[in-house]
Amino acid sequence: MKQASGAASAPPVTRQMHRGADAVRLAKSITPRIVSNISDLLGNPLMRIVTGGVLHETSTFASGVTVVRDFETGIGCARGREIVDKYRGANFCVGGFIDGAEKHGFELIPLLWAFAFPSAVIERASYDTLKNEFLDGVRREMARGIDGVLLDLHGAMVVDGIDDGDGDFMASVREVAGPNIPIIVTTDLHGNHAPLRVAAADAIIGYDTYPHIDMAERGREAADLIVRAIRGEVRPVSAIRQLPLFWSAACQVTAHPPMDELIRLVHEVERRPGMLSATISTGFPWADVPDMGASVIVVADGNREAAQAAANEIGDWVWARRERWYKQPPKVQAAIAEGQKIGRFPIMLADMADNTGGGAPGDSTEVLRTFVEQDLSDALVLYMVDPDVAKQVHAAGVGSKLHVELGGKSDPIQGPPVPLDVEVIALSGGRFRYDGPMYAGVTGELGLSAWLRYRGINVVVVSVRMQPLDQAFARSFGIDCSKMKYISVKSAVHFRSGFEQLGGQIFNINASAIHSHDFASLPYRRRRKMWPLDSIEK
Ligand SMILES: [Zn+2]
Repeated sequence: MKQASGAASAPPVTRQMHRGADAVRLAKSITPRIVSNISDLLGNPLMRIVTGGVLHETSTFASGVTVVRDFETGIGCARGREIVDKYRGANFCVGGFIDGAEKHGFELIPLLWAFAFPSAVIERASYDTLKNEFLDGVRREMARGIDGVLLDLHGAMVVDGIDDGDGDFMASVREVAGPNIPIIVTTDLHGNHAPLRVAAADAIIGYDTYPHIDMAERGREAADLIVRAIRGEVRPVSAIRQLPLFWSAACQVTAHPPMDELIRLVHEVERRPGMLSATISTGFPWADVPDMGASVIVVADGNREAAQAAANEIGDWVWARRERWYKQPPKVQAAIAEGQKIGRFPIMLADMADNTGGGAPGDSTEVLRTFVEQDLSDALVLYMVDPDVAKQVHAAGVGSKLHVELGGKSDPIQGPPVPLDVEVIALSGGRFRYDGPMYAGVTGELGLSAWLRYRGINVVVVSVRMQPLDQAFARSFGIDCSKMKYISVKSAVHFRSGFEQLGGQIFNINASAIHSHDFASLPYRRRRKMWPLDSIEK
């Protein structure tokens, strides 16, 4: 269940097939952290669960390829014991798996966890390298006996030649682990789910929140479920209902209408007797693959027909209300004018077509150019990705005034660079600690960075593509976001977790960039028919 249950200090669990009375007694008297040492002494009496994942949200519209190095220098990468050291307490699903191991006392065997920034299609050889490393680990541990697999995946991974990257990963793990070992997977709310993955995994549990603030909670839920499955208390079986519809980011905010009502329905369904989990996924539309789109996955206890019926029930509910989930976003000037008319500040412009969190380059210039043309005061852009300008202003130093050609270098659709005579207010190496609800405590690395000012307009220039999830990085320069009247973020929704408290107005806008939400303008070639662009008979 989404509402994680159970006593905080339940005794360690032992493997059903390999239980020994002495082991149980000993295990009960020790802290979970050293359980694995004792279990070694006793010849593996404890439940052993391998874990890890290769996480990527792939934009097939982004240029270039994603390679192993992008995983090693991305959101996070660790191997073996280092995974526990780095991600215990972190708001990632793997952090929740670690919590689960400590709560239940099972032995968690971390293999490889690698999370690249969203970017272009993954090079086939790089994917094979990462997958084979993980599979080799599973094989090695199989020789000692394992009881389950907990996978932390994104759900929208595309590999060169493999449209359903996550499905391939799950199916490969299934092939190695065999048919009887429970495999439970957590995924992002933006997975493009397809039948292969539902067939390969016993259960797929997706995030319930956007902004995503429940990753660790979903990880704990997966850990609770796999323990029950290994003990034989439940038999998770899954069903999927795919929904061929485009879902606007502005209509996905789970705490607000219209999305909150759907999340309540999902929770109501999974609380019913015989149900173990229900997930709504809104899909990741910048992947031009046949299974791109929204979906519902329901996990039931032993009854696949019941799971399918519940998935269809939620799917029908969503489909019947499909007008709710799509909204054409306003242009930049229209949003600014509307915000000024209402007069509640800051006016926040979510420049979602250039959302670095979805793999966009982060250097589109339409919003900045509009700010300059309107000569706005107390305006702020978070963040402009421009490593060249970052280097240039670092060389010039704090307090210097110089000419820069800012942004607009990655792709013509991102707009031309904006020529500006700026003052360098502050410089940074780009390292900081997030303090908002999404990544609190996680270290961010944005590379060479700077706070530049042109008249009343402030721009934070960074070298690494990452969306603003909270105000921590701006604050590290001395910028007080609450004093700003106009803030533009290269983000669709996640920024809300760290900026909604400013109490202004938020507009999801349509400015020129590669990830347009005007889906008719995108050069799709392989997607299926999708509402509202195509007529679909249901
Ligand atoms: Zn997401």
